[in-house]
Amino acid sequence: MADRDPTYQADCLFCRIVADEIPSDRVFEDGQVIVFRDINPRAPTHVLAIPRRHVRSAASLTHADGDLLAALFGALHWVARELGLDDYRIVSNVGAGAGQSVFHLHFHLLGGRPMTWPPG
Ligand code: AMP
Repeated sequence: MADRDPTYQADCLFCRIVADEIPSDRVFEDGQVIVFRDINPRAPTHVLAIPRRHVRSAASLTHADGDLLAALFGALHWVARELGLDDYRIVSNVGAGAGQSVFHLHFHLLGGRPMTWPPG
């Protein structure tokens, strides 16, 4: 496909969402980032911010990804404001033992209910 990111991996669910091979309910997108609603929401608002480029997890990020991280967090905060959230939680699970089930970097944005600490 002409518009696939060069880092596209056919066995990656979120690369397939980026490529529009799997539908998503997008609330924000730009040249680097997509934010879409989680299919199994754990809070009244639950969206995922992902890079278009395949990055396995937050553990793969380096100083060279500074721009990408700024874009991801900028998008998250824009979405939070648009969706009327003052208080919210941003989480990224790294590794299966921590709850990561999709190995394409994503930040969960959860809000709209009281949060407890620590997460389970
Ligand atoms: P994690 O378990 O931290 O890797 O988060 C992966 C998230 O992706 C989970 O919260 C899932 O509910 C969500 N998810 C899985 N498949 C889809 C999909 N097709 N569209 C939207 N969210 C999804």
